[in-house]
Amino acid sequence: MAPHSVSPPPRAFGHGTDSPPHTDTRNCLPRNAPCLSYWHRTTRAFKYLTANAESTVPASSLYVIIGSGISGALTAFSLIENGVKGEDIVILEAREAVSGASGRNAGHVRPDAFRGFQAYAATHGSEQAIKIIKNEKLVFEKIDEFVKKHNVHCDFHPTTTFDVCLTPEFAAYEADSFTAFQRAGGDVGHVKFYQGEEAQRRTRVPDAVAAYEWPAGSSHPAKLAQWLLSNSIAKGAKMWTYCPATQIFKGTQDHWEVQTPRGTIQAEKVIHCTNASAAALLPQLSSFITPNKAQAHSVIPTRAFSGDKVLESTMSLRYSMHHFYSLIQRQDDGTIILGVSRANPEMIAETKDQIVGFDDSSANSEIVEDAMRRFKIIFPEANTKTRHGEGLDYAWTGIIAMTPDSVPLVGPIDELPGQYICAGFNGHGMARIFTCAPGLARLITGGSWVETGLPECFQYSVERLSKASQKSKTESAW
Ligand SMILES: Cc1cc2nc3c(=O)[nH]c(=O)nc-3n(C[C@H](O)[C@H](O)[C@H](O)COP(=O)(O)OP(=O)(O)OC[C@H]3O[C@@H](n4cnc5c(N)ncnc54)[C@H](O)[C@@H]3O)c2cc1C
Repeated sequence: MAPHSVSPPPRAFGHGTDSPPHTDTRNCLPRNAPCLSYWHRTTRAFKYLTANAESTVPASSLYVIIGSGISGALTAFSLIENGVKGEDIVILEAREAVSGASGRNAGHVRPDAFRGFQAYAATHGSEQAIKIIKNEKLVFEKIDEFVKKHNVHCDFHPTTTFDVCLTPEFAAYEADSFTAFQRAGGDVGHVKFYQGEEAQRRTRVPDAVAAYEWPAGSSHPAKLAQWLLSNSIAKGAKMWTYCPATQIFKGTQDHWEVQTPRGTIQAEKVIHCTNASAAALLPQLSSFITPNKAQAHSVIPTRAFSGDKVLESTMSLRYSMHHFYSLIQRQDDGTIILGVSRANPEMIAETKDQIVGFDDSSANSEIVEDAMRRFKIIFPEANTKTRHGEGLDYAWTGIIAMTPDSVPLVGPIDELPGQYICAGFNGHGMARIFTCAPGLARLITGGSWVETGLPECFQYSVERLSKASQKSKTESAW
């Protein structure tokens, strides 16, 4: 038996043992002691949080899904919907269930409406760029439909979102994108535009130069992924937590041998839903998927944003393409979740250097300070004396998976027959996974790419990897 490819050296990985320090930022399994997010802290009683954390893995399973985030959980759910027996599915998770980006994001379910068009068109052509944006609109509609159909308690709040332009330069960039998208035949029928005083009144941002508004929402992302896992487990699927897949070998008779610290599973089909850690098992991705850290904060509002003054819409508050803040306000408890862009000109060089990497064990205090200072600048009405209990509640970090062409990798890994991938969401998975994972399940169960309805540029191919360049990326849009 030979590994299908060169794998990283074995590393200590188990309960209570932190991963060793690493210099290679790519070929790396998830760190072993991640911080908790707001979402984790509010779901500690999830029944399957540490499922099978001590037991050995089964000797075989037809399907092994690696990763228990929304990609892995929804792939399992969709496979079962497509007729696969739950008992034939094993999910392996390196840490506790939903401990990756799906359990630590900023809560936005926010399709791009037009902004990314120019950047996508430059890389993929305008036809694909339109499909990418159309797909995001569809994802929002699908989540809305899914949550209602299955009565999923994930605090989903369908509403509208504002892209708030905080500088004339960014307002000009947005106007150009809007026009380019519309001219290329993109649908902007659902987008409203406001400027000057009207933009300021609608967004409550006195410095708003202009604002665009369209349908979007927010959710408790961990509850959504946990519901998907619980549902699949109820139908027979099994999950092993604290059980990383460490290597994959070619076995006999077209099987793959998935090695873990608690035994080896023989599988016909192996599905990589491993986000930024994908290259640990698929080294061909080591220069394609880059792990980037992102940070979010929960804020207990003062009176200015409480009661009937809670913000109904979500927002992306933008100084430039790369300097922005995302905001949702949870409708049930009023908590504000504030996300911060990775490329912030106000950060000191040391913090900028720390942006790439796998360390999701703590939040960065400089980013916390920037987020809280900027919140008060953008919303002067928040700049009041706080009572004990109001203000910053908590901060956390997580890892997003960037790709050089700004779109995810979905589909069969042709050079490794029987292996599949759904990863690389560029910090934008909540607006993409709800079509990608069901699409992947369709491919696995014999469907064609056309049946997935996904943009062709999402498809995994060796050619796509080799085309990978250092071209500038579209900034994540949450
Ligand atoms: C701070 C932050 C804010 C964000 N905000 C937003 C937002 O508001 N809106 C939005 O759309 N997106 C946002 N994102 C991005 C979004 O969360 C991700 O795109 C999405 O969750 C990716 O889901 P996933 O299932 O592919 O990956 P993950 O949720 O990361 O799941 C991958 C799982 O695989 C496990 N794993 C990896 N390797 C192995 C292995 N070898 N063996 C076993 N298990 C393994 C990991 O532990 C992890 O649990 C944000 C991300 C962060 C970090």
